[in-house]
Amino acid sequence: MFTLSGKVAIVTGASRGIGRAVATLLAARGAHVLAAARGDHAAETAAAIQQTGGRAEAVSLDVTDSAAIEGMVASVLDRHGRVDVLVNNAGITRDQLLLRMKRDEWDQVIATNLTAAFVCAQAVIRPMIKQRSGRIISVSSVVGQTGNAGQANYAASKAGLIGFTKALAREVASRSVTVNVVAPGLIDTDMTRAITGKAQGDWAARIPLGRLGEPSDVAAAVCFLASDEAAYITGQVLAVNGGMYM
Ligand code: NAP
Repeated sequence: MFTLSGKVAIVTGASRGIGRAVATLLAARGAHVLAAARGDHAAETAAAIQQTGGRAEAVSLDVTDSAAIEGMVASVLDRHGRVDVLVNNAGITRDQLLLRMKRDEWDQVIATNLTAAFVCAQAVIRPMIKQRSGRIISVSSVVGQTGNAGQANYAASKAGLIGFTKALAREVASRSVTVNVVAPGLIDTDMTRAITGKAQGDWAARIPLGRLGEPSDVAAAVCFLASDEAAYITGQVLAVNGGMYM
């Protein structure tokens, strides 16, 4: 079950946290993984995968650079002849109440979390349509479903991913390409450590399953949606939130 042998998978934001766990699990299931992050940040992820016998390469990619995304996908197609899985995971926060939010804080979050997913999807969609197969999985957030004070930019970007996914899912379903979202709740990574560090107990009390999520919890959901077993699932939001939002 859930084997990804022979599949070529691109994971953005693979240097740490959720993206690293996704890259590691996809490779463990047999995929050749392109682990992307800025500079040489994903080198360690790729090296760790290779050390355990998996297939991975590190890719230097800033997802706000559209030309770099197009170049990266062209290079993947040139060398591997196909792209089977795209995981839009790279993301940032620039939290601020709307009254004080600077235009730049809005623009940065939308560019990284939403526009990059559009550019990445557009770069891989033609080859996926030609292949008559493909998986596009975007990492949204529970905040895109519920909203959160101080995160108007982030919530808009994450809700945007859900609408984007449903529209694209309808466009490409006839070509057996599926497009889905995974919506994590509160996951223990660099992104949340600043807010949860002092009050882990408080946060856990708000989560029915009684704990923060681990990156591996999210990776398992992404891996499932990437697999052949998920072929009949498209346009969906798979929540991985410990029951925080039902
Ligand atoms: P993280 O530990 O802060 O990691 C963020 C990743 O995004 C890093 O690999 C980072 O790579 C990459 N990234 C940021 N800006 C980038 C850019 N311009 N170009 C390329 N890569 C970029 O965050 P995380 O918690 O793993 O979050 C991963 C995703 O899950 C995000 O989309 C986040 O919004 C979402 N999410 C997280 C939680 C949570 O509780 N942690 C909950 C819901 C959703 P660099 O090394 O290049 O910085």
